[in-house]
Amino acid sequence: MSDASAASFDFDLIVIGAGYGGFDAAKHAADHGLRTAIVESRDMGGTCVNRGCVPSKALLAASGRVRELADAEHLRGFGIHAAPVRFERQKIADHANQLVAAIRTNLTRSLERAGATILRGKGRLEGPQRVAVREASGIERVYSARDVIIATGSDPFVPPGIETDGRTVFTSDEAISLEWLPRWIAIIGSGYIGLEFADVYTALGCEVTMIEALDRVMPTFDPDIAKIAARKLIDGRDIDARAGVLAKTVTPGSPVRIELVEMASREPVETLEVDAVLVATGRVPVSKELNLESVGVTTNRGFIPVDEAMRVLVDDKPVAHLWAVGDVTGKMMLAHTAAAQGGVAVDNILGHQRLIDYRSIPAATFTHPEISSVGLSEADAKALAASNGFELGLVRSYFKANSKALAELESDGLMKLLFNRSSGEVLGAHIYGLHAADLIQEIANAVARRQSVRELANEVHTHPTLSEVVEVAYKQAAAALA
Ligand SMILES: Cc1cc2nc3c(=O)[nH]c(=O)nc-3n(C[C@H](O)[C@H](O)[C@H](O)COP(=O)(O)OP(=O)(O)OC[C@H]3O[C@@H](n4cnc5c(N)ncnc54)[C@H](O)[C@@H]3O)c2cc1C
Repeated sequence: MSDASAASFDFDLIVIGAGYGGFDAAKHAADHGLRTAIVESRDMGGTCVNRGCVPSKALLAASGRVRELADAEHLRGFGIHAAPVRFERQKIADHANQLVAAIRTNLTRSLERAGATILRGKGRLEGPQRVAVREASGIERVYSARDVIIATGSDPFVPPGIETDGRTVFTSDEAISLEWLPRWIAIIGSGYIGLEFADVYTALGCEVTMIEALDRVMPTFDPDIAKIAARKLIDGRDIDARAGVLAKTVTPGSPVRIELVEMASREPVETLEVDAVLVATGRVPVSKELNLESVGVTTNRGFIPVDEAMRVLVDDKPVAHLWAVGDVTGKMMLAHTAAAQGGVAVDNILGHQRLIDYRSIPAATFTHPEISSVGLSEADAKALAASNGFELGLVRSYFKANSKALAELESDGLMKLLFNRSSGEVLGAHIYGLHAADLIQEIANAVARRQSVRELANEVHTHPTLSEVVEVAYKQAAAALA
């Protein structure tokens, strides 16, 4: 080691940022006997717990119930006639807030129980193996640590020309508190965050205009899945979706004014006047104030370059004892990715070499119905097949052929499975349909083990369950092997 003995450091490990990535890293390290400190300047639990996954899923759970009870046609199919549904916005918001508070408390307690030291304040590097923490009072202390993990996450991205006031023009940070229900809201961006909020708002009776700068809505999704999902999630709801248009300026107020231009030509299209705007145009890394210069690290548009062991890179070479995990690395910006990266970093610190496997990390959008995916996109799988000289296999399995989906009167859904036609290896899957977020896990596990559809096709699935949609895909793929 280029450094002094472990005992001469204040801590074995300092983690900057207590989001999902930092939390998992600190807990894992403390559980394994490392003297661990975690620095947090805002709320313990970071984006996911306070402003992301947790409150948004609480809102989706409540609004999803409203949608279900208000869907008279669907209920009539079962012979049910429900009274008009009523809801209390504030109580839905309270449900989300209470869940956030409970999960934040549990998470903080579990860190304390594991023996981690929580340092409240803003952390930054002070050269190799040193972290300065500025407390809210202005007092600053510098700590030394044998290893440092940066887990400072991300913030919403607001494009130039868009002015937010947190009340009429806001990002997901404010939307999750559901302070009011605008009669007409424009959502800028049709990625998973925009789609999930469109699901919540339309269920609660708001009219939505969805504005997407790229030439199709849901541009980050598999095109076939996006097409069938959009029929229900967008066209089937009170949503006017516009692709290929840019919100050039957004001015808060009553009404909010949105100047729309055509993306390609920048020619004016129209000016909309709406009650509110949710800006859901992606997220930016939080790395500016970390003093990365003190260790010679250059970011890539703010994202910290890392290798698959989560070591920070300078000129493609790892910096000793410096690691980064989570959204700040820009790799599949999801809570479980951040947690997985945190675990990998700490295992490597503990001397157990381990690399992250992004291909087997699933992703889900919790709309009603859900969308999920794992592994390669069809375009990437085609490119891999061409470069590695194998034939790409693709099968489709439909929810309308599944007994459980039919019993639920929810047979709208599709699964696409991509595999190597020679070896049978599963390369990726894309699902739209009831409980897609749960269904994807089985395929993620198969991708993690690089399993072949040859063996997977023989695995017995419970009847009648939605998992048989996956079984049918595996069987079709096995029958289509070269
Ligand atoms: C609306 C929404 C819904 C989402 N839904 C899902 C979902 O369903 N599933 C999913 O997997 N992901 C979801 N995500 C994404 C998920 O929230 C993020 O991928 C995840 O939070 C990233 O974790 P992280 O630890 O990298 O960073 P963060 O959670 O952003 O945490 C970073 C922490 O570091 C702190 N920090 C930053 N700088 C400093 C500093 N200098 N000193 C001290 N502390 C600092 C911040 O205050 C923050 O608490 C959602 C995100 C949003 C916005």
